[in-house]
Amino acid sequence: MEIVKAEKCEGLACKVRGADKLFPFSAWDKPDKVNWFCSEHLRAAKAFSEKEKQAFMQYYADPEKRKWLPHTSLMLYEKYSEKY
Ligand SMILES: [Zn+2]
Repeated sequence: MEIVKAEKCEGLACKVRGADKLFPFSAWDKPDKVNWFCSEHLRAAKAFSEKEKQAFMQYYADPEKRKWLPHTSLMLYEKYSEKY
């Protein structure tokens, strides 16, 4: 897969431009999608993604709740739970 590098940070209302100032990032629940952020927004995106992932993992630690998860979400749960 060829990754096309963006020219502008995808952070909200961010004015950082230039491919040399951008870093690739994939959210925990969208590993196939790459976003480009400046260092500041990269830090924010990582923190947000990590927080969401932990909330998800905590909630669905209960097998009863996992019964209602769509298949793609269940795959995510299994993928990340292997790391614990
Ligand atoms: Zn930015």
